[in-house]
Amino acid sequence: MKRIMCPKCENYITFDETKYTEGQSLVFICDHCKKQFGIRIGKTKLKSTEKNETQEEKSQFGSIMVIENVFGYKQIFPLVEGDNIIGRRCTGNNITIPIETSDMSMDRRHCVINVKQDKQGKLVYTLRDFPSLTGTFLQNEILSDKDRIRIEDGAIITLGATTFIFREAEK
Ligand SMILES: [Zn+2]
Repeated sequence: MKRIMCPKCENYITFDETKYTEGQSLVFICDHCKKQFGIRIGKTKLKSTEKNETQEEKSQFGSIMVIENVFGYKQIFPLVEGDNIIGRRCTGNNITIPIETSDMSMDRRHCVINVKQDKQGKLVYTLRDFPSLTGTFLQNEILSDKDRIRIEDGAIITLGATTFIFREAEK
């Protein structure tokens, strides 16, 4: 399978390139913004759906791994020190972790993971809701607006219909 980015809204569209021959023209209609656009097989640079699987997983400040579902592919994002704003990727949404997904129940700014070092130099990770419309869930429990919850390696966090796994930095 290959995927191609909508030139208007940057949503990804997946198709089976083996069904077509080189030089053939295809027309796509974006699910997201309904823009119609064409490509020519073998002439347009295509991105493999496997791309994100090989991304560097280790990070100095930990990472999150978004589980593949019907709305999007497996994606790994490194965390940075301070606030990491997590939400749905869309044009003009300038956040720390833009998840590429068509899951509309994920807000553009959904939750935040804060990374900071304590006095012993140990990294402390805290999860909070941005706040979002549909809420942030930690191991299936919804966070209240005021919750600031310490999370540890392997924490399972759900935003809308999408789940990711938190990974601490390698020690
Ligand atoms: Zn589009």
